[in-house]
Amino acid sequence: MRGSLAGPRLLLRRLREVMAEPIDAQERLDKIVVLIAANMVAEVCSVYVLRADGVLELYATEGLNRDAVHQTSLRIGEGLVGLIAAEARALNLPNAQNHPAFAYKPETGEEIYNAFLGVPILRSGRTLGVLVVQNRAHRSYYDEEVEALQTTAMVIAEMIAAGEIEALAKQGPALDLRRPIHLEGAALSEGIGLGHAVLHEPRVVVTNLIAEDVDRELGRLDSALEKVRLSLDQMMSRREIAHHGEHREVLEAYLMVAQDRGWARKMEEAIRNGLTAEAAVERVQSDTRARMLRSVDPYLRDRLHDLDDLANRLMREIVGRPHGTEAFPDDAILIARNMGPAELLDYDRERLRGIVLEEGSPTNHATIIARALGIPMVGQVAGAVSVVEEKDPVIVDGDAGAVHFRPMAEIERAYAEKVRFRARRQAQYRRLRNAPATTRDGRELTLQVNAGLLVDLPHMEESGAAGIGLFRTEMLFMVAHSLPRVREQEELYRRVYEAAGDRPVTFRSLDIGGDKVLPYLRSVDEENPAMGWRAIRLGLDRPGLLRIQVRALLHAAAGRELRLMFPLVSSVTEFTAARALVDKEIRHLKRHGHETPEGVKLGVMLEVPSLLFELEEILAAVDFVSVGSNDLFQFMMAADRGNTRLARRFDPLSVSFLRALKRIVDDCERAHVPVTVCGELAGRPLEALALLGLGYQQLSMPPAAIGPVKAMARSLDVGRLRARLLPRLEPGRWPGNMRTFLSAYADDHDIPL
Ligand code: PEP
Ligand code: MG
Repeated sequence: MRGSLAGPRLLLRRLREVMAEPIDAQERLDKIVVLIAANMVAEVCSVYVLRADGVLELYATEGLNRDAVHQTSLRIGEGLVGLIAAEARALNLPNAQNHPAFAYKPETGEEIYNAFLGVPILRSGRTLGVLVVQNRAHRSYYDEEVEALQTTAMVIAEMIAAGEIEALAKQGPALDLRRPIHLEGAALSEGIGLGHAVLHEPRVVVTNLIAEDVDRELGRLDSALEKVRLSLDQMMSRREIAHHGEHREVLEAYLMVAQDRGWARKMEEAIRNGLTAEAAVERVQSDTRARMLRSVDPYLRDRLHDLDDLANRLMREIVGRPHGTEAFPDDAILIARNMGPAELLDYDRERLRGIVLEEGSPTNHATIIARALGIPMVGQVAGAVSVVEEKDPVIVDGDAGAVHFRPMAEIERAYAEKVRFRARRQAQYRRLRNAPATTRDGRELTLQVNAGLLVDLPHMEESGAAGIGLFRTEMLFMVAHSLPRVREQEELYRRVYEAAGDRPVTFRSLDIGGDKVLPYLRSVDEENPAMGWRAIRLGLDRPGLLRIQVRALLHAAAGRELRLMFPLVSSVTEFTAARALVDKEIRHLKRHGHETPEGVKLGVMLEVPSLLFELEEILAAVDFVSVGSNDLFQFMMAADRGNTRLARRFDPLSVSFLRALKRIVDDCERAHVPVTVCGELAGRPLEALALLGLGYQQLSMPPAAIGPVKAMARSLDVGRLRARLLPRLEPGRWPGNMRTFLSAYADDHDIPL
């Protein structure tokens, strides 16, 4: 008999009544299976719940032998039920016993049933269990029946997620939803963070599943879809993205899905079966996610993010923005697909204990900020967003690049011990604070910190750094709500000087563009922003902005030395133009009787390879050089520093890059021009060891790196290292893997890394 359309709706209504009854969980499940069986005219209805040990346990049945409840179990992949869970898709069979995967469980007495329909119980794409109906007759279930059973499975998913079913678990394995999950990624910012999950893009939690009025729900869905389509259309026609580029392609893909009748029809179908509009979106998306998560096609998996975004947009149209006002925990672990630097700065750092990204790379600006703020961060954690629920306990291990979701007690204990160990090591570093940064063979080093926010400043004092080797001024601009005026800027820079005391500070002029956007400054959409209109290019084209910054810096540095460098310089002429601008400002100040700095030292950041081929000339023009190894490396390798796929492929300790770095330091020495390395490289002990071996003596790094790098340097005999390292870099020789060589060297010489 073909079920009438009112069938599933009626069932959902009855289910809602059962859900509201003050009965215990087992009784409720028992009633639910009876209701489903009756409504679908099936002789059997059973619920299997997935346990943390990967076993599906029979939790309730109508029709099978009741003694089998909590006794019968199947592993994922075992039998039909296990197959449904493994593949997260429905199975509709007229004769189950003929299916090769059929596994006979004698205690259930199911051998008399032939027709079989099973669907996964899904939540956010995760399989929580399996719901099955069976009939004696050989029959295929209609599509409407499959759909209805899937809709019903959502109600059970909610029951599981709400924690109600946990009480029924026998001693032993917990439910899969609470299963501890351990994922590996890339260690991006060191430290250990223990806390509770906060989703950067919160999922809308559907609390109202079952609807009374189908037409009303269809109307809600329809108008939300219309609004999403409209807003996508508007975004597409906006001038700044009206040309081709990645962004536009993503929007086009969204629009294509948003206009896809198939997608809308599936949601409408779910509503006709009795769901609210929001539950229908969740239901269809959960289904899609489950299928795509299992897909091995990387392109499809990437599209999953787009579909998720789209479903979220739609959901927000229907029920409004999720929480935001909800209490943000004091020990938040932020989980996101990816994040820009400004978004990260929006959070209250006092409450952030860690960050987990599905993407991210070591030299991304969000990473640099996390490091500056001392927040542990692990990136490239595939699937992180899918496996976590809001408020789940999470441990972020920024040293090993590991994340533990819902960790077991032993893991938590081990980490508590690790945290204590780290504290002891930090104490050792603190003891080194006043020790000279001198190598074993007596070379004096200058170790400075990278900074960019006022909150960074105390770290310089704490770490015992010799000064600020790179002050990224754009960060101050990124946290401001509007473009800071000259007086405001002056005040900010003055505070930096105050914190530095008599230690030197090297400011870098604004490096906006690329991934660093100022919310109040209209940015141009570029296909390739990292190589676009950014840094000194923008500064010279919009001299007003640069002039105001230079003026503020000159004021703030009155009576002391101003050290200023320009980012992304690619030719000598750019530097001379920048110097002319500064000179003009100095003359202007003098003419108006203002106090000027004691001295002005101007430098360039060496981050564009072209400058390597004008090295002699640029060294004749500047007072100092700072190697921005993050950008220099990305441009030398033609490998986007923020691209997750490339992050592991290119090693800065490769021969070509080490040779380039060596040329720079040799030429600087010859020209008597001081040189510093201020990219992230300088803060990693093994990489810093290589830099010292090449001849660098000034490094600038995140504050937390000062201790480890100093400890490394104090036990390093640079002369001996050079004797081994430099011949390997000679042309024509097969040098082997430099990272392996350097690690072995450190190991053999008891150099702590
Ligand atoms: C660099 O490129 O190495 C650098 C220090 O600048 P930023 O990371 O801010 O681009
Ligand atoms: Mg740079």
